[in-house]
Amino acid sequence: MSNTERTFIAVKPDGVQRSLFPEVLRRFSQKGFKLVGIKLTFAKEELLREHYSDLQSKPFFPSLLSYMMSGPVLATVWEGKDVVKQGRALLGATNPLQSAPGTIRGDFALDMGRNIIHGSDSVESAEKEIALWFKKDELVSYKSEMYGWIY
Ligand code: ADP
Ligand code: MG
Repeated sequence: MSNTERTFIAVKPDGVQRSLFPEVLRRFSQKGFKLVGIKLTFAKEELLREHYSDLQSKPFFPSLLSYMMSGPVLATVWEGKDVVKQGRALLGATNPLQSAPGTIRGDFALDMGRNIIHGSDSVESAEKEIALWFKKDELVSYKSEMYGWIY
């Protein structure tokens, strides 16, 4: 059992424009996860093609790219026990119609094409996405007394 699992969570351009990023940071922090990387960035098309490479053949792919390039994205990396699965649970389902109230998408989104947040779907995709969005020296390791109360 490792408490150093990491995931990639990104507040999409609509989430940034709607000032939902403090809420996202609050929910992940208060759940017990440690923020180890954060930056506000405009995603380049090449990066997004790689990030969403599994969706290339989907009809919505071009609109997904323009959505993701419509404003800055808040890219973050979180660390903690089962953070990939827990992160997906905090996000809620892809389609806001199926996202339960209490989840981020369930509380703040209505449309699949404007679902405000991304979260890695497996440990493998988390590793790929973190490497794609962050340089190694942009991620930090630190100890906090708080985590002694969480674990
Ligand atoms: P998730 O973001 O929950 O992992 P996917 O990986 O399946 O979901 O899709 C990536 C993103 O592509 C979604 O978050 C959403 O923004 C967009 N998307 C997925 N399916 C559709 C669709 N049918 N119509 C429009 N956008 C979609
Ligand atoms: Mg996905």
